Amino acid sequence: MNLTRNEIETLKLLLRKEKATRRDIADETQLSPFVVSSVIEMLEKKGLVEVLEESQAKRGRPSNFYHINPDSGYFLGISADLTVINIILLNSINRTVSERQFPTGKGAGDSSENFNPFLYDILDSLKRFLQENQSNKKKIRAIGIGVPGIIDSDRGIWLRGLRIPGIKHINIRELIQDKYNIPVVIEDVARTVTYYEKSNGKGKGTKNFFLLHLGRGVGGGLVVNGEILKGYHGFAGEIGHIIVEPSGYRCHCGYVGCLETVASLDGILHRLNDKMREVVVSSMHSHDFHREEFQNLREVLEAAENGDKFTQSVLSGIGSFIGDACSNVLLLFNPRKIIITGPNAILADYLRDTIYQRIRERVFSEMLSNFELVFSNYSQDHEAYGAALFARDLYWQKEIL
Ligand SMILES: [Zn+2]
Repeated sequence: MNLTRNEIETLKLLLRKEKATRRDIADETQLSPFVVSSVIEMLEKKGLVEVLEESQAKRGRPSNFYHINPDSGYFLGISADLTVINIILLNSINRTVSERQFPTGKGAGDSSENFNPFLYDILDSLKRFLQENQSNKKKIRAIGIGVPGIIDSDRGIWLRGLRIPGIKHINIRELIQDKYNIPVVIEDVARTVTYYEKSNGKGKGTKNFFLLHLGRGVGGGLVVNGEILKGYHGFAGEIGHIIVEPSGYRCHCGYVGCLETVASLDGILHRLNDKMREVVVSSMHSHDFHREEFQNLREVLEAAENGDKFTQSVLSGIGSFIGDACSNVLLLFNPRKIIITGPNAILADYLRDTIYQRIRERVFSEMLSNFELVFSNYSQDHEAYGAALFARDLYWQKEIL
């Protein structure tokens, strides 16, 4: 659906305020009452806006409150990672209609499909979600998919899975569009979570921010002057592959010492467990220092919270590397905020100090005036939510929030 600039401005205002009279719209958009009337009329014709209630004006003619018709279209968002696939359905005012998680691994046992097992999982989860939401299926206007790796969002091609094995040059947009006849957009998962933070999270109302997503992978998203920066090929924000430790671990991408090898889930566990072995080997009192290897972040957090100095100091070191990467972003883009999110952000209390310290050492103090480093309250539906927002933009042909 093609919308004019005035229609977009009006929709933006209605999304923000939930309801408004023609006069409210004219006041805020600076459009003339005549233009507002015709814009509202067009949006009503398109089914996007409807009268909510008659306002109780004390004097003069009562005027109607308008709102976005919540059922004018639904947008489906999928986010996929190695262990879980999240699917969410949003209505036109970005409220969740339905959401569900599917574990991956089904595809691995099914050799009848000619697909990569992980891709099979995505398609199978989508099929099941649509079966379960049969009554809403007709209202779905577009589907957004957030996946890790290198994504050509313009052509809808998943170029490389990086840490998802076997993904190479898959036209996931065509696959799903052909099957369901619904428009599809594909984005890097870090960019979808950037969109979530921009519309609902810590980035709301901030025109320039950088989002750092720490999970099984490490990714980023840049919001510049209120819009998500895509770059020439759509890859802007690949902070996970900035080299921060040249003598470190090898990354899935082929290089050594990428931020992803330091701050991803596996990166954090590797480092802790390797350092632990070093300490045990070198310690004269190794019997004082033996413990099981860390299996997950919960155990790491518990050790740090219980005052374990070893764990705290390794996490501080990881914070310094993250701080190095953040300093580069600050120097290049001068964002007002850096928002850190993702599952690994539960370690915030043990990373924050050294991230800040490194930033203060490397970035001009003038650039840091009013700068904020914030950790977002991460929930695992954020990526899918952001993917649904990309789907909505595809349908409305414009970035809205
Ligand atoms: Zn890398």
